[in-house]
Amino acid sequence: MENENKKLVTILVPAYNEQDVLHMLYERLKAIMDEQANYNFEVLLVNDGSKDNTLNIMKELREKDKRICYLNLSRNYGKETAMIAGLDYSKGDCVIIIDADLQDPPELIPEMLKYWEEGYDDVYAKRKSRKGESFLKKFTSKMYYKTLQSVTNIEIQKDTGDFRLLDRRCVEALKSIRESQRYTKGLFSWIGYNKKEILFDRDSRAAGKTKWNYGKLINLSIDGLTSFTTAPLRWAAFIGLGVSIAGFIYMMIIIIKALIYGIDVPGYSSTMVVILFLGGLQLVFLGVIGEYLGRAFYESKGRPLYFIEQYNGEKETNANLNK
Ligand code: UDP
Ligand code: MG
Repeated sequence: MENENKKLVTILVPAYNEQDVLHMLYERLKAIMDEQANYNFEVLLVNDGSKDNTLNIMKELREKDKRICYLNLSRNYGKETAMIAGLDYSKGDCVIIIDADLQDPPELIPEMLKYWEEGYDDVYAKRKSRKGESFLKKFTSKMYYKTLQSVTNIEIQKDTGDFRLLDRRCVEALKSIRESQRYTKGLFSWIGYNKKEILFDRDSRAAGKTKWNYGKLINLSIDGLTSFTTAPLRWAAFIGLGVSIAGFIYMMIIIIKALIYGIDVPGYSSTMVVILFLGGLQLVFLGVIGEYLGRAFYESKGRPLYFIEQYNGEKETNANLNK
């Protein structure tokens, strides 16, 4: 079945505790792969330190179908890192990133391939609707994208996840970015190249439950903001300037009043208000500066992004990793 002249398509699946969906995912992918006879396929399953039976199921699947490859990370690193690990090990002329939970319908793959053949480098799937997500989650995600868009120069794609096809040159571009606090969604835009949008209805999870909670989402949002813009630092400077001007005006008023009416002692409450307000503001902005300093600290360590435990059952020494 392998044919040298056919292009190789890698389907990259990051998976963390996905034992309930992997078989289902395989069946859906298999149907697509068998139908697309013009391509060779490689399904690269990345086990991101799952605590359940995910790895064993991956092994089982590889026994059954040699198109399946799997990568076992040394622990749970999070989806962003699982994705870069997968990109590092992918061999395809293009890579399709897809969630394990079947929220991204594999049936879109043929359409993606079609646009890829037309010359697009990055074919991404945009959600028309999101089933099984609360109003609050939809609302917060909408507000967040608005803010992020307004403060960054690069175009952030709304309602778009990581479900997309990337040409080899996009993959190489992403691989060359070795920052440790990755915000891949922003990186896709940052690298540029020819992009094409396709629309789809996002299903709810086939089984299992989401690994995201509000805490993680808030952290991801802050990562997104701080890794693409230093705007918050500028806001701090402007707000500081505004407060100083207001303070200066108030000072003049007090001096003039004292000159005209003499000094009166009361003023405890206004003093307290000013101290508390300014104290709070200073702490907030210290936090903002600290956030950036912290990022610089992590990046300066230059640690490898991840370690591999095994690739297709063979132990990895990690010697040639993360160059
Ligand atoms: N995932 C991962 N590592 C993690 C968390 C999630 O590889 O630490 C994978 C997960 O297995 C799934 C994808 O990332 O394939 C998306 O996760 P999930 O469905 O929980 O997120 P949601 O769809 O709710 O945004
Ligand atoms: Mg999901």
